[in-house]
Amino acid sequence: MGAAREVGRSAFQVNCDGVSFLLDYGVELGREPSYPMKVSPQEINAAIITHAHLDHSGNMPSLFSHGSTDVYATPPTFDLSRLLIEDMVRLEKEGLPYAQAEVSKMMLHAKEIGYKEKITRGNASFELRESGHVLGGASVIVESQGKKLFYTGDINPRGSRMLREADLDLGEIDMLITESTYSQTDQMDRRESERKFVEFAYEVLDRKGTLFVPAFSVERSQEIAVVLKNAGFKHKVIMDGMAIKVNEIMLRYPEYLRDAKVFADSVNHAVWVRGESERRKMLGEPAVIISPAGMLVGGSAVFYLQNLALDKRNGIALVSYQGEGTPGRKLLETGKVSIRGKELKAESEVRQFEFSGHADRTSLFEMMKKIQGNPKVLTIHGDNESCTKFAEEIHEKFGFDAHAPEAGEVVTV
Ligand SMILES: [Zn+2]
Ligand SMILES: [Zn+2]
Repeated sequence: MGAAREVGRSAFQVNCDGVSFLLDYGVELGREPSYPMKVSPQEINAAIITHAHLDHSGNMPSLFSHGSTDVYATPPTFDLSRLLIEDMVRLEKEGLPYAQAEVSKMMLHAKEIGYKEKITRGNASFELRESGHVLGGASVIVESQGKKLFYTGDINPRGSRMLREADLDLGEIDMLITESTYSQTDQMDRRESERKFVEFAYEVLDRKGTLFVPAFSVERSQEIAVVLKNAGFKHKVIMDGMAIKVNEIMLRYPEYLRDAKVFADSVNHAVWVRGESERRKMLGEPAVIISPAGMLVGGSAVFYLQNLALDKRNGIALVSYQGEGTPGRKLLETGKVSIRGKELKAESEVRQFEFSGHADRTSLFEMMKKIQGNPKVLTIHGDNESCTKFAEEIHEKFGFDAHAPEAGEVVTV
């Protein structure tokens, strides 16, 4: 129903023997939000949120405008989704197909489940598996009539400093719905990215500048704090905005982390900024400032950009994906920033680093090697080329029947 040959608005309806499940129901946040094909709550028996990112969770409350259904996810996914969705409701106001009332109604129908906990409806069942992508993030197995479907959601088979690797102990499967985000690109080795990032941080601070790191509030901000702590970084690290609320949620779920102590030490080592006046004080002395939004769209990042971009001692480290049409992409491509309506050249040094929470090309193929059975494969959640090429390659290398579906397409197994 969405994320067909594009990243954003993920939604997959799985019909099995009179029972129907909705896997994800997201929004795509471009200049204007866009949505997956419409699903009514009467058509489905349960909905599942794989993880909190809005391209997977952001349209779920619209199921509660006229009716309701049970929504399943892990406890951290519900906490994080609610935080991100309510923030979007505040920012978008009239632009969304639902309001705060629907978000609250959704939370009344929230059913928390753990990994590998089987939920049965009629002749069909589903369970979540750890995906290594964000805290509480999951892939989904659906089983019915002796057939098994695996939907990766967003997956990181290798995990990260904070998260364990994805659980790919699946047995034989009959259908695979796989993300394709980086199927055509390899990321720089993670250790290498970390080394370069920390080096840049020292360079900037040694010349008495401040390093500003706009980062997604969920996962990336915390990952950067862990990377700095791990490298024994000597200077002050500041975290701001929604990242702090996410820290609080993450600290409540140590069992979902690879190493809860390292995580707690890292985020507690940072100074947490709360509110405008504290924020102003932070500009005085050299530090690393980690703050959402990752693509510089809104959030306290806008404040920091305005105050730090015009001094050449400062640095800006882009560590998140920069979507088309975003201020982050513009900064990267043109070196320009808009400050109070004026287009200005950024004087601070801008660099980009690769810290993806997704499988890259090599690890997607590593994952494919672990797939057992002879599944039909649908490649989704990637741009047109990433989806179509990936499907061709899966067919060539593994002999599976694979293609990149169009939105609304029905595939039977
Ligand atoms: Zn995601
Ligand atoms: Zn996604």
